[in-house]
Amino acid sequence: MSQKYDYDLFVIGAGSGGVRASRVSAAHGAKVAIAEEHKVGGTCVIRGCVPKKLLVYGAHFAEDLQDARRFGWEVPDCRFDWPTLRDNVLAEVDRLEGLYTENLERHKVEIIKERATVAGPHEVKLSGGRTVTAGKILIATGATPVMLDFPGAEHGISSNEVFHLDALPKRILITGGGYIANEFAGIFHEFGSKVTVVNRSDTILRGYEEALRDRLLQISITKGIDFKFNAAFQKIEKGEDGTLTAYLTGCEPIEADAILFAIGRRPNTDSLGLETAGVELDKKGAVMVDADNKSSCDSIYAVGDVTNRVQLTPVAIREGHAFADTVFGNKPTRVDYESIPSAVFSHPPVASVGLTEGQARDRLGTVKTYQSDFRPMKNVLAGRNERALYKLVVDGETEEVVGIHMIGPDAPEILQAAAIAVKAKLKKSDFDAVVALHPTMAEELVLMR
Ligand code: NDP
Repeated sequence: MSQKYDYDLFVIGAGSGGVRASRVSAAHGAKVAIAEEHKVGGTCVIRGCVPKKLLVYGAHFAEDLQDARRFGWEVPDCRFDWPTLRDNVLAEVDRLEGLYTENLERHKVEIIKERATVAGPHEVKLSGGRTVTAGKILIATGATPVMLDFPGAEHGISSNEVFHLDALPKRILITGGGYIANEFAGIFHEFGSKVTVVNRSDTILRGYEEALRDRLLQISITKGIDFKFNAAFQKIEKGEDGTLTAYLTGCEPIEADAILFAIGRRPNTDSLGLETAGVELDKKGAVMVDADNKSSCDSIYAVGDVTNRVQLTPVAIREGHAFADTVFGNKPTRVDYESIPSAVFSHPPVASVGLTEGQARDRLGTVKTYQSDFRPMKNVLAGRNERALYKLVVDGETEEVVGIHMIGPDAPEILQAAAIAVKAKLKKSDFDAVVALHPTMAEELVLMR
């Protein structure tokens, strides 16, 4: 392509969005470099979705081993060893980093292991001292955990550090009521830690269907996870033996061995030099982009969490791919943000696509809902008193299924397939026309009357 610049495309950040954009742009013939100051793979692969899901798998064994006795297995007393799981997970992360790196190299993308900052519309400064030029610059720097600022807050950790803990905390206090808080509450509880979740409001998983949120809260409390709502931190004190004491408004001081902050993630735009190219940020620091991922500077684009649109890996990947096809593939493509499925890998997991009942009532004329509240067969024999809940939200006029919401074993696996029906705008009668696949949990989707 162009001889005017060192590169056709310079990508800052080798996470999900940046890697996909680099690889596809290179396949379209562009000369591409990607800079990464940490590890190739980004939040999802290195310190997010992937290691978290492996911990979730690890945590499930606690209940499976317990239930196995009811299914006739003689199970000796088992002991969980955190360092073994931690090290295996970190080794898997390293393996994946290697695969991501190989994949980029195979596509002739130059990987620069340095911090890069923008120095002008076509200029990038590298921490090693070099300045390079590029026809287009893509900002794919992701987001970083929000930390609170109060006396002793430095004793808290974020999801970045939680995968590296030296020892399993006997007591952990988790701040926040969102994805990360509920996922790690389940993980540590299953590993045997005493878990307390503290949130500033009286809500968990804001934005999810209310019936699911209530069900997760009820099951979590029954399992033994403590929740403190409407509580704000005043200070954390660290004792000589390492015990942390959290002082909060509205409740007694809480002692813990670790305190995890999971109160959202903010776009990584600090000291990135974006002002040198006139790139506009919103008030949360996110790069403002148009539907083609272009910023207020014609040669600078952004994809993924740094744009604070939908903070999900598959969305960042699609944005990166759409950018590459549009800018280097002569194939204008835009991401469709309608009906994106999502899941919380709590114990049990929650999964959702489309409108909640509340959103549907705000947007549509009439709304019908169908609900199945059942005890999965496996839980019955296991003597586990945990009920699953599925809910369909239907447009009363068109009969289209506009939302599916589920909590229960394997809900994310089932919902991925069910989301196709919502995307395809299928009607409730299409669900009814399908014969149940018995005995499964998913059959409840076609049995709701
Ligand atoms: P979330 O946005 O899910 O939740 C943030 C929580 O922190 C809310 O409960 C919120 O309370 C509370 N909170 C926000 N600001 C403050 C504050 N200043 N002080 C105290 N509490 C506060 O954030 P997470 O950190 O859990 O996750 C970040 C993002 O990462 C998610 O939004 C999601 O997009 C992504 N993610 C996705 C996962 C998945 O797909 N399974 C897993 C993990 C992360 P309130 O409800 O009152 O607003």
